[in-house]
Amino acid sequence: MMTTTTDRISSESFGGLSEDFDPQWLLTPSQRELQARLIDLCARVLRPNAIASDRNLIYPQENFKALASIGLLGLLVPTEWGGLGENHVCAAMVVETIARYGCPSTAMCYTMHLGAVAAALFRAHDNAELQTLLQRLDKDVAIGTLSYSDPETGSHFWYPVSSRAEETAEGWQVFKRASWTTSAGFADWYIVQTTSPDFDGDYSDLSCFLIYKSEVQAEPHKWDALGLRGNQSGTLLVDGVVIPAQRMVGPSGDGTASNDEIVDPFFLLCSSACWNGIAMGAVDIAKKHVTRKKHVDVGMRVADYPTIQDYFGEAIIDTSACRMYTFSMGQLMDQLTNGCDWSIHADTAALPRSANLHWYWQIKFSAAKNVAHVCDKMLHACGGSGFKKDMEIERYLRDGKAGWVMGPTNEILRQFVGKSALLGFESLDYWNQSVNERVLHNELKKMSAEDKRRLAQTLLEEMEEAEAPAKRPAMAGTTA
Ligand SMILES: Cc1cc2nc3c(=O)[nH]c(=O)nc-3n(C[C@H](O)[C@H](O)[C@H](O)COP(=O)(O)OP(=O)(O)OC[C@H]3O[C@@H](n4cnc5c(N)ncnc54)[C@H](O)[C@@H]3O)c2cc1C
Repeated sequence: MMTTTTDRISSESFGGLSEDFDPQWLLTPSQRELQARLIDLCARVLRPNAIASDRNLIYPQENFKALASIGLLGLLVPTEWGGLGENHVCAAMVVETIARYGCPSTAMCYTMHLGAVAAALFRAHDNAELQTLLQRLDKDVAIGTLSYSDPETGSHFWYPVSSRAEETAEGWQVFKRASWTTSAGFADWYIVQTTSPDFDGDYSDLSCFLIYKSEVQAEPHKWDALGLRGNQSGTLLVDGVVIPAQRMVGPSGDGTASNDEIVDPFFLLCSSACWNGIAMGAVDIAKKHVTRKKHVDVGMRVADYPTIQDYFGEAIIDTSACRMYTFSMGQLMDQLTNGCDWSIHADTAALPRSANLHWYWQIKFSAAKNVAHVCDKMLHACGGSGFKKDMEIERYLRDGKAGWVMGPTNEILRQFVGKSALLGFESLDYWNQSVNERVLHNELKKMSAEDKRRLAQTLLEEMEEAEAPAKRPAMAGTTA
């Protein structure tokens, strides 16, 4: 017979699931203690703010101040630099807890913050600028974010065709145009990705830069969306800002390594935790309702109907699978990095997380798919009452909808996994560099001899045109 452990929140008003349904065995004693403090902070500060944030499109600045008060902005920063020195499992736990008990918008802004912090820690060893920044995160409530998505390439955020950087006498001149950036205009610092200063047409040659708030132009007044309304993911422009040499994060051309080793693994881990937290938050809200609402005609509570019990059983089982899968990836990353020890990256060739990217893709797909289904079913379990705003479940449903569409989108992820499994990883061709000979020959087969001759002629002319600048010096030096 199962004994009931203490409720997550002792307050009567919580009414959600007990700790019996949480994988607490994955956490160290100090991580459990941190979780308890965070749940308390969520109940007192983050959750009340979440309601106002959603209604009035308010950026969760106050929630970030609360997180900084218990050291969470420096969660991943080594203890010798004043941080909590925590690991991947803990990062997933913190994001899940914020989304579940506090505010999903804050959880997403915090996910982007952790991604930016990790990108900075990855290349901070010989960089005094990054080290100084990383040591003042909590003291100054210095919020970071990642600015990658490009207006011309949509969810292919690894392909920044509208951005570039040039070398100057003192450092770099950065041009970044982003279509989406969480916390845009509110964050204090940004990791942005552009093509490298010596870019020659190869879009896999990417570099990262540290840009401060005073150097960006954002349009937060334009933000209005279905869910995650506090996360303010607007456009971002860095319009030829000149920055010192130390503000390049890592060496020139490090962007691909940074994506595969840090930005993707951390985003996929923490955003999955965010979707799982939203799913659990919806279950908590619905449990409170169905165990209290009575039908006097039959003398039953809603929770007494087997149909409703089945809804909860399936929602908890599916979400437990997603949570265990996500935490398992956190454990894997911890194993690969000696518990998230950043000193391993003093060797710039050390990229232990990257080899398992195809596993991290899968957790985001599962968590983002599950959250929409679970929130939908929990709303059904609450009936018309769930449809009203005061119960908050409709907000969780709207917030959870962001999971599927956030890049890498679930369409892209299942395509990556299926295609790489069938045709090999090289077939993914992120930067549109390898020719699909099968398609090419199949299309050529459809052409008449005359069509082929015309095509050959056009191709020859294009080649001559492409080679022309070398012969005509007057054209050289033209910049985009
Ligand atoms: C709440 C929120 C916060 C965000 N925050 C950030 C942030 O902080 N930083 C950042 O850089 N970006 C951020 N983004 C942007 C996000 O990562 C995506 O880039 C963005 O959602 C893509 O939107 P789009 O309209 O350009 O989609 P499109 O790319 O136009 O996609 C439209 C449809 O086409 C599908 N599709 C696209 N390519 C393929 C393909 N190859 N195969 C099959 N289907 C395909 C998509 O899955 C989708 O269904 C955020 C997005 C949201 C919703």
